[in-house]
Amino acid sequence: MSTIEVVGAQVDTRHFINGNRVASAETFLDTSPIDGTVLGEIARGGQTEVNLAVAAAKAAFPAWAGLGPQGRGVLLHKLADLVEENLETLAQLETFDNGSLLRSHRRGVMPRVALNIRFFADWAMNELKHEVFETRGHSNNISWDPSGVAALITPWNAPLMLATWKIGPALAAGDTVVLKPAEWTPLSASFFADLTKQAGIPDGVFNVVQGFGKEAGAALVAHPDIARISFTGSVPTAKTIARAAADNLTPCSFELGGKSPCIVFEDADLDLAAELAVEQYDNAGQVCLSGTRILVHEAVADEFAARFRERAAKLKQGDPRDPETDIGPQIHQVHFDRIKGFVDRAVAGGANIVMGGEPNSELGGLFFRPTLVKDPQPGSEIVTAEIFGPVLCMQTFKTDDEAVAMANGTEFGLAAVVVSGNRQHAEQITKQLVAGTIWVNCFFVRDLRAPFGGSKKSGVGREGGTWSFDFYADVKNTVVSPNGWKE
Ligand code: ADP
Repeated sequence: MSTIEVVGAQVDTRHFINGNRVASAETFLDTSPIDGTVLGEIARGGQTEVNLAVAAAKAAFPAWAGLGPQGRGVLLHKLADLVEENLETLAQLETFDNGSLLRSHRRGVMPRVALNIRFFADWAMNELKHEVFETRGHSNNISWDPSGVAALITPWNAPLMLATWKIGPALAAGDTVVLKPAEWTPLSASFFADLTKQAGIPDGVFNVVQGFGKEAGAALVAHPDIARISFTGSVPTAKTIARAAADNLTPCSFELGGKSPCIVFEDADLDLAAELAVEQYDNAGQVCLSGTRILVHEAVADEFAARFRERAAKLKQGDPRDPETDIGPQIHQVHFDRIKGFVDRAVAGGANIVMGGEPNSELGGLFFRPTLVKDPQPGSEIVTAEIFGPVLCMQTFKTDDEAVAMANGTEFGLAAVVVSGNRQHAEQITKQLVAGTIWVNCFFVRDLRAPFGGSKKSGVGREGGTWSFDFYADVKNTVVSPNGWKE
């Protein structure tokens, strides 16, 4: 089987290598988390397909690099146009495949996919420059040169959004790409590959190898012809990839997990705090940035909890295609069981369930009720491990020092949410937090010009704006002497 029909769109489930569709001897099944429907058989790639894709990307590199930012920009804008023209199909396809809200895909996620491509194309053309400076009359001329083949490994929680967050800058920088999408959500990348062809992006510049992490992913990151590895996923997988990359000294950019704090101070607007805390259930909690540890000043804890419950009671769980739905299913049975395991063990360890705490028995399937746990054992896994589900954990603090110590007290440092009504207070706290992104009285405001990444075990490196090009490109300084010229 090579093509399946999903929401009226034809999706080729083979690899996309050198502009052609390539089958594998073996396939794996892709199912929808909404109701378990089998969507199709997907080509299961490994070393052979990775070798083909990397060879194609390597061969396509000189001409793509030679096009320059302007030449590439024209084609990348055409690609972004095609994403916009196919926005409804992409939104529906992604919802079927990963169970995230159709409403969000339509309004925010797919427009962002187009913007990821447009923004970095424009940045390469207009913003990527450095002031020339002189050293004893010698000029320093800094440029961002294409570096080669970029291997991109992406997760399932926001498949095309996170893939294009890498594809956009990699292609704009003049690199060619081999993408390995997550095995639970292979479809949007495959459909997107057809759009690159329609946009006129030359064969071999963009390739997709489908398959499992331990097969296709492992072969890709160990390949000696890879110039860059950009990975978004879990900490253990990042360690495996770093070991594989070490043999070739391939530079890696890692965007990993989080266990971010959402800190509610005594001086906070408690309605805003409750609203922001409830937002942490976004995408059924399957967001690396989620502030899943709700740290509340003890003086306002009861009032905050009451307002949180009132606000959370309005959340509607159900079919992600329904525009009224706020929380859809989890991605996969394996992941669902993992989430349930965390909650069951926390309860067995003495934690109390304020809300939820169990599968949604009315809906069945992969629907887990939005959950708030309180009074966890200090240092237990429910307060330190990334659950990646609709499970928030509430703890109280007495002083600012205690809040900061608790906030910084995990191995992660991806993000933090601070809710305070006092600017000076908020500023004093944010200075002490260790995190790649801090949101003050807000959540999820992300500008592509800003650096994005994690501190501690939440990541290595930053992407966004020029930071993306610092990674995907070879940054070069050409020092030109005032002497030796004959003209
Ligand atoms: P998750 O984000 O689901 O917790 P992973 O970090 O394992 O899990 O997966 C993120 C991506 O990394 C997926 O595309 C997966 O296939 C890929 N992957 C998993 N293991 C490896 C590996 N050993 N080498 C390269 N890629 C991998």
